[in-house]
Amino acid sequence: MTTTTSDAPASNPPKTSTTIAMEILAEVMQFRRMADAHACTAKPCLSCLSPHLAKVVSAIDQGQPITFVLPAFPGKSPNLAKVLGPLPDMAEQRSLEFLGGLCERVRKHYAPGAKIILCSDGRVFSDAVGMNEENVTAYQQVLSHMIEDLSLNSSISTFTLDDIYAGQDFDQMRRELLAQHGKPLEVLQAMVRQGGKQPCDRESEDAHRLYCGITRFLVEDSMFPGQTKTRSAIQKECRGRAYQVIQRSNAWSESIANRFPDCVRLSIHPQACGSKKLGIRLMEADSWMTPWHGVAVDIGGAFRPFEARACRCTWRRTRVPRRASEPLRAFSKS
Ligand SMILES: [Zn+2]
Repeated sequence: MTTTTSDAPASNPPKTSTTIAMEILAEVMQFRRMADAHACTAKPCLSCLSPHLAKVVSAIDQGQPITFVLPAFPGKSPNLAKVLGPLPDMAEQRSLEFLGGLCERVRKHYAPGAKIILCSDGRVFSDAVGMNEENVTAYQQVLSHMIEDLSLNSSISTFTLDDIYAGQDFDQMRRELLAQHGKPLEVLQAMVRQGGKQPCDRESEDAHRLYCGITRFLVEDSMFPGQTKTRSAIQKECRGRAYQVIQRSNAWSESIANRFPDCVRLSIHPQACGSKKLGIRLMEADSWMTPWHGVAVDIGGAFRPFEARACRCTWRRTRVPRRASEPLRAFSKS
């Protein structure tokens, strides 16, 4: 184990890479999303840290930034009751600023700082969640412009399915992904069933939790104005589609792990103590709603994501001008 003197006062002994790595992880884990209320919610225990520690130590030993990968920012929900349109808005901006701030927080402990690669997964399951392909493309482009406009390019970058399978049509990209990294649906269904029982192993429990979360998102996205199907019919349909989304999502996860083996894996979903993924908030305030499932609402200077329909009646719509692309849209409490 090497040591570093980069940010240690002259009178103190130099910190080891492991000590710095633990400080960095504790800093990031302040903004963790945890699956269960647990003693380590306030302070990460060794089990919380251990899946990520070796990667962080290795980056420090090489003097490299700590790099995180986060599958997220797929595209705006197709449900216009929840969002204002298909393009990133103030909700995404606030989220990017928060993630950029997280990288700066790491820099307090370690001069090379941190980078986050946003592995935008919209193309991976756009057909399964009812997202228009052109909207996914436009969302990805505007998100990249937004990162540039916010001068976050040194810490935040994007990576998409289009980057891997450039030049192929979108269905072909997804077929290639599943052929290389996909698992049979039956295996996934058995694991989710097992995860709904007690006792069960960690992997099955995580799979069941993800299945419930994805099903909920799919049901909400299907409850758009003018929907004629009953809620129970929608729920049945979404339970089937959830398996397809998770199958693709898992294949995307494996593809990312192969491509970025040295990066710490973040997740937008809450994770249990000891998980290989680190569940992370996307805004300062903890919220189960992601920026792409809602709009940003300014409540006393702090933005939180809300469904657009919850805001339209009671909150004044505001427009914040931007240099490039669409005007940013947000609501402010009047
Ligand atoms: Zn723990």
